[in-house]
Amino acid sequence: MNNPFANAMTQLDKAATIMKLDRSVHEILRQPKRVLTVSIPVRMDDGSMKVFTGFRSQYTDALGPFKGGIRYHWNVTLDEVKALSFWMALKCATVGIPLGGGKGGIIVNPKELSEGELERLSRGYIQKIYKYIGPTQDVPAPDVYTTPKIMAWMLDEYEKLVGEHAPGVITGKPLSVGGSQGRGFSTAQGGVYVLREAVKKKNMVPSETSVAIQGFGNAGSFMAKILAKEGYRIVAVTDSQGGAMNRSGLHISELEAYKRERGTVLGAPATEPISNDDILTLDADVVVPAALENVITATNAPMIKAKIILELANGPVTPEADEILHKNGVLFVPDILSNAGGVTVSYFEQVQNAYNHYWTEEQVLKKLEAIMVAAFSAVWETKEKHNIDMRTAAFVLAVGRIAEGLLARGLV
Ligand code: GLU
Repeated sequence: MNNPFANAMTQLDKAATIMKLDRSVHEILRQPKRVLTVSIPVRMDDGSMKVFTGFRSQYTDALGPFKGGIRYHWNVTLDEVKALSFWMALKCATVGIPLGGGKGGIIVNPKELSEGELERLSRGYIQKIYKYIGPTQDVPAPDVYTTPKIMAWMLDEYEKLVGEHAPGVITGKPLSVGGSQGRGFSTAQGGVYVLREAVKKKNMVPSETSVAIQGFGNAGSFMAKILAKEGYRIVAVTDSQGGAMNRSGLHISELEAYKRERGTVLGAPATEPISNDDILTLDADVVVPAALENVITATNAPMIKAKIILELANGPVTPEADEILHKNGVLFVPDILSNAGGVTVSYFEQVQNAYNHYWTEEQVLKKLEAIMVAAFSAVWETKEKHNIDMRTAAFVLAVGRIAEGLLARGLV
């Protein structure tokens, strides 16, 4: 089985060798600084009591407060949360924002809870971890199956417990309680800026580029919408129940309306069905895994036909698959670069909270674009310099920056 934390450490070791990483720094970076495991009792609507397990992994804060989302999923494990918190640290360092890496998760299927149960669970989680989070300590955000509404409940619970307003404790909030313009689609938007650069490097043009997207949640559906507007041809998308394909291009807003009604894109008019496995090996120029980790492995990597893989999910490609893709000349743009738009606008949100002064969407997107384009160039240059793949290049760059922070603090 693919353990995400073992994969993350394989990636770290590979970069460490290439960059001749200081051995003490390497040792420090092989473990999270702190891991919290909490039990969260929730009174269910039928009067029964259910106890959920939640985690928060605080990986490194060498460059700033721990930062990263909270995931609600039935398959959440501690090793997954640890890996995700490590990738968050690298993500922030790759785009050069002054934040560290953290991640939280609760083992739960949120689709099975009523709104009231979901609210009590979210508040209960904050009651258990509030002493360890804060605008200058650790700043959570949304992730898989968590929403701005959940962030607002968490913010409210935190502020009640500490007795003051502290909007910077959590990001991805609704606009009414200190959210940022653009945050809702920023992960996808950042991916679009990065894809534009990757497409140029491959001498391709958007109007002649077909795209397949696995995952039609927050990241994937916005990605489809923005790319379609920029002239790309979206030929297939999937969600957890299945997918929809149309070789001459999907009509994204119709697909969204269909999904709103039926809960899935499967069976949408004028489309053929496609599975979550088949979409990855589809004959499309760009494949975007935008759902969960470990979907491209040694088994299906040899069958990938795309020229570019853009990772909008966290950890969708295993280290073994990396080797195969690299050998086959597939350009894979790693998660810690291509999905960093979300945390970048989270950072903007915190800055606005600190100033209590808010920016327009135009201002946000302009700053986001500048950061994403600069990060792409920095990773590309590192890749060329060492003749390595994009992921290893991003790791070399990010680990180098974190190492500098650790060394400056005298931690090693
Ligand atoms: N969950 C998102 C990610 O994995 C955003 C995290 C954040 O904004 O802190 O990048």
